[in-house]
Amino acid sequence: MDTSSGTVEFDRMGFTDAILATLQEAVAIIRLDHRLAHINPAGLELLGVNSFDEVPHDAPLSLIDPAHAQLFKTRYMNILADKRKNGDPPLSLDVHTIDGERRSVECRMAPLKEKDGSLAGIVVTARDVSAREDNLRSISGNAALLSAVLATVPDPMIVVDEHGAITSFSSTAQTLFGYSEEEVLGENVKMLMPEPHRGMHDDYMQHYLETGQKRIIGIGRVVEGLKKDGSQFPMDLSVGEARTGDHKAFTGFIRDLTEKFEAEARMQELQAELVHTSRLSAVGTLASALAHELNQPLTAIANYMTASRDLVNDFKPTAISSLREALDESSKEAMRAGKIVRRLRDFVSKGEIDSRILPLNNLINDATTLGLVGAREQGVSWSIEVAPDIDNVLADRVQIQQVMVNLMRNAIEAMAESPTKHLAIRARPLGGEQVEISVSDSGHGVPDELIAQLFQPFITTKAQGMGMGLSICRTIIEAHGGHISVESERGVGTIFRFTLPRVLKEGQHVS
Ligand code: ADP
Repeated sequence: MDTSSGTVEFDRMGFTDAILATLQEAVAIIRLDHRLAHINPAGLELLGVNSFDEVPHDAPLSLIDPAHAQLFKTRYMNILADKRKNGDPPLSLDVHTIDGERRSVECRMAPLKEKDGSLAGIVVTARDVSAREDNLRSISGNAALLSAVLATVPDPMIVVDEHGAITSFSSTAQTLFGYSEEEVLGENVKMLMPEPHRGMHDDYMQHYLETGQKRIIGIGRVVEGLKKDGSQFPMDLSVGEARTGDHKAFTGFIRDLTEKFEAEARMQELQAELVHTSRLSAVGTLASALAHELNQPLTAIANYMTASRDLVNDFKPTAISSLREALDESSKEAMRAGKIVRRLRDFVSKGEIDSRILPLNNLINDATTLGLVGAREQGVSWSIEVAPDIDNVLADRVQIQQVMVNLMRNAIEAMAESPTKHLAIRARPLGGEQVEISVSDSGHGVPDELIAQLFQPFITTKAQGMGMGLSICRTIIEAHGGHISVESERGVGTIFRFTLPRVLKEGQHVS
C-alpha cells in the first residue's frame, strides 16, 4: 500500500482540519508576515470569538498580556531565526479574550517547514491552564490562610502526618514548648512528650493505623508535655484527624493546665488550712468545758491517792482491799483523762486528708469524747444507736470527728433553754453503699428564714459566732463524696443528717 498517496488522499478529505478541530489545545498557524493563517476551534474559543473573521488582525500578539508580550516575542523571533532549542519549556502566559477576560495558557511554538526545508510559518499551540492556576492560587491561598490561622489560634496547635512527623507548629505552641518552628518541623512529635509516652507513641500510632482503634483521637485527655528546657507540664490535649487524599493528618490542640493545677493546689491548701483553723477555734470555745472535763478525773485521782496514802500510814491488813480499789479507780481516771488529751491532740493536729476504712462505732465514740464534753453538767442526756449491720466506713477520722463535734456543740447550745434536753446520735445504712449519720436535738430549732442558707459561710445567730462551722461541715462531707442536710421545727428540735461511703465486709451483701 502506498502510504504517501494515502496521506494525500486524507489531506484532500480535510484530514488536518478534522484533527485540528478535535484538539482541546488551541492551535494557530502564523505566516512569515506575522499574520494569522489559521486557528482551530479551541483557539477561537480561547480568544472568545466565534469565527476566524472576528479575530483581530494583529492577533495573537495583541491579545497577550503586556507583561508577557516580550517573552512571546523572544521565543517567536528565535524560531524565525531557526534558533529553536530542543526541549524548550512551554511559556506560561496570560492572554485576554476580546472581551478582556484573562486566561492563563501554556504556549509552545514550532517552525512549519516546506518540503525543501525552508520556513513557511510558525505553529503556536496554547493550552488553557486557568483552572489549574486557580486551583494553585486557592491552594496557596489556603496555605496562607492556614499559616495565618496557626499564627493567631489562641491555643497552641500542632499538626502531624501519619508517621508522627510535625508538619505545623503554631506560634503559641512555639512559645509554650520553647522550640522554634524550624527546630521541630519534620521531627517526630514524641519529642514533645516525656517518658513513658515517648517510648510508646510509635506503637500507639501504628496500632491506630492498623486497627482504627482510637485511644485519644476525638477525646480530650490530660497528659504531660515536655518543653525544650526539659521541664514537664500538665496539658489538655484534643486530637483530631483529617484526611487529604490518601494521607492522614492529625491535629492536636493544647491547653496549658499549669496555672489551673497550681490554682487548684492552692485552693486545696487554703481549704485544708481553713478546716484546720476551724478545728482550733472549736477547741478554743471548748476550752473551759475541756478544762472542767479534765479536772474531774485529776481531782478524783488526787482524792484516791490521798486516801491510799492514809491507808498506807495506818496500815492494817484489812485495808488492803480498799487500797487496791483506790489504786484501780485512780488508774481508770488517769486513763479517762489520757483519752481526752489524746483525742484533743489528734483533733488539733494538722494532717493531710487521710481517708481510711474505719469501724463506725469507734469513729462515733471518738467524736463523742470531745463533742459531749460538759454536756452532763448542762443537764443534757444522750443516746447513741448504731445499726448492728454497719461495720466500716471510708473516712478521715479527724475530719468526721470535727463534723460531729460541731453538730453536737451546736445541738447542746440550741438546747440551753429547752425543758427537755436530749441529744440522739443514730447511724443506719442508706441504700447499699452509704451510711447515714444523724444528730438530733430537742432545742429551739432553726429560724425558717435561715434554713435555706444554713450551710453558707458567715450565717450565724450567735453573738460570738463566726458562722463557719456548718459550711466547713459541708465541705468535709462533700469531699468524702457524701451529702449533708437539715430539718428543723421551731420549738421542737433540729436534725442534721450526713452520709458517708460504706465499706462492706468481704462476703457481705446488701439486698
Ligand atoms: P456558728 O455556730 O459559729 O454560728 P455554724 O455554721 O456552726 O456557725 O452555725 C450557723 C447557725 O446555724 C447558728 O448560728 C445557728 O443559728 C444555726 N444552728 C446550727 N445548728 C443548730 C441547731 N442544732 N439548732 C438550731 N440552730 C442551729
